[in-house]
Amino acid sequence: MEEKLTGLVLSKTDYGENDKIIKIFTLEKGTVSASLKGVKKAGAKLKFASEPFCFAEFLISERAGRRTVTGASLNDSFYPVREDVTKFFAAGAVLEFVRRFAKEDITSPELFFSAIEALKNIAYGGVSPRRALCAFLISALKIIGYALNTDECFVCGNEIKSRVFFDAFSGGFLCENCFNGEGREINHATYVALKKIEEKEETTEEENLFALRLLDFYVKTKAEEKINSLQELLKL
Ligand SMILES: [Zn+2]
Repeated sequence: MEEKLTGLVLSKTDYGENDKIIKIFTLEKGTVSASLKGVKKAGAKLKFASEPFCFAEFLISERAGRRTVTGASLNDSFYPVREDVTKFFAAGAVLEFVRRFAKEDITSPELFFSAIEALKNIAYGGVSPRRALCAFLISALKIIGYALNTDECFVCGNEIKSRVFFDAFSGGFLCENCFNGEGREINHATYVALKKIEEKEETTEEENLFALRLLDFYVKTKAEEKINSLQELLKL
């Protein structure tokens, strides 16, 4: 059986002497694994398709439950992410997020298009890679059911004007009056930064950093996952 799948390569691992196995996040089937034969040989024509960030139309044959890539036509390799360390870790965090949260054989077109858009913005957009990553994480968390609720106080619904508390288990922010010991106080500037990003307003690089730190904390606490590229990005 042969099928055509639109996909984004998330990771690659060596297999045998000349082959690789890649993990592809596909629009039609969710995450799938497939082998690429002979791609480690010099001049292999499908070598490009074994690289993470490769966004392509894959031709895949399946035999006895094993998938093999037999052809690929490139849409984009997001090349500029390889030339700049900030772009590289921001784009890497997008792939890692998808790798950790997209399920095998379960489709999520929303997450797929959101990842492609984020990679485009990081690679070619005029925006800061940190800002593009923040926007991706906020929307991707919403897609997987971990939406942050920045609108107002999660409990009383009033605007949060001064001290602000974050409850990582509900993803909600609370005002001083409603805080009952669950969660922790955060910098008001972090809250403002997240709101601005959600409302597509301009942010400074410092605000992007505040927002990224909170998103990192949230993913670690709520989803119990660590995005390594995000750790690297925060160290830069
Ligand atoms: Zn309140």
